[in-house]
Formats: sequence, structure tokens, C-alpha cells
Amino acid sequence: MSSDVTLQPALYYAVTAQDNNPACRNYYGNTGKIWDVNPFYSNDGVHYSVVCGICGQPMEILTAVLLDPQPEVS
Ligand SMILES: [Zn+2]
Repeated sequence: MSSDVTLQPALYYAVTAQDNNPACRNYYGNTGKIWDVNPFYSNDGVHYSVVCGICGQPMEILTAVLLDPQPEVS
């Protein structure tokens, strides 16, 4: 995964991502589709990914905006 986005650990973000797998029908190069994921949890700030529901590969995370306030999670 190539991404310039860095996330702080254990926080929720609103992220956008694109699928860079040419074999996938979600492939950005064909669809131009940007996926919104909100809330997106950063885990430990290192091991996180937006996984495509079709091909199962990590998408490239384009942007990440820290949610303020953080969502209530039960
Ligand atoms: Zn895919």
C-alpha cells in the first residue's frame, strides 16, 4: 500500500480510498470511484487498511480527517 496518510493510534477518522487493483471491478482506473469510510478506526496507527469488499485487497487511502468529536462506541 502506498499512502502518504499517517494516522494517530486508537482514533476514528473519516477516510477516502481508491482501489488500485486493475483486476477488480471497483478499480479506480475504470470507475473513478472514491470510497468514503466513516468511521474508520486507526488501530495502532500502523496496521490499518481499507479492504475492498470485492477483491479483498487494501485500497489506497487518499485522505484522513480526524473525527471531532470522536464517535461513541459501545
Ligand atoms: Zn477491489
